[in-house]
Amino acid sequence: MGSRWTKEQDATLAEMWAKNFTDDEIEAAIGKPPTTFKPRAADLRLGRRYRPEGKPTADGRTYWTSDDDALLDQLRRRHMTLRDIAEALGRTKAAVESRLRKPGLQKPKSTSVQVRKLRECMRCKTVIMSDGYGHRLCNPCKVYAAYACGQYD
Ligand SMILES: [Zn+2]
Repeated sequence: MGSRWTKEQDATLAEMWAKNFTDDEIEAAIGKPPTTFKPRAADLRLGRRYRPEGKPTADGRTYWTSDDDALLDQLRRRHMTLRDIAEALGRTKAAVESRLRKPGLQKPKSTSVQVRKLRECMRCKTVIMSDGYGHRLCNPCKVYAAYACGQYD
C-alpha cells in the first residue's frame, strides 16, 4: 500500500493489536491512520481483535463495529474493489459482500423527500417514472453507469 513501515512500527502495531488498543490509540502511537494500519495488520497476519460491539454477521464468526461500517462505506465510495476492501478490513470478500447487502449500506443516505413523479433521465433525456430525487437515470442508463464506474468487478 505504498507507505513504508519500520520494524519498530510493525512491532508496536503487533503489540497494540494483540492488547486490543483502540484505533485512535494505535494511530497516535504509530502515526498512521486505520486505513493504513488495518491492511498492514492483515499483511502481518495479526488476526482479529476482540470486538466488543456489533452483531454477528451471516457467517457468525466476525463482528462489525460502527467503525468498520464507516470504513467500509468510505472505501466503497472510493470505488475500491471488493478484494481491496476486504483486505483493508481484514475480512473475507464474502463477509464484505454480505455486509454490503445490509439495508442502509446499499446507498448513501439521502435526506431528500422521495416523490414519485415523471422526470427526465439525466443522460438520455427519456422521461421516466422516477421513485425519488435520487432516481434520475432510466434503466438502460443505470446499467451503463454502473458498468462505467466498474463497481465491485
Ligand atoms: Zn437514459
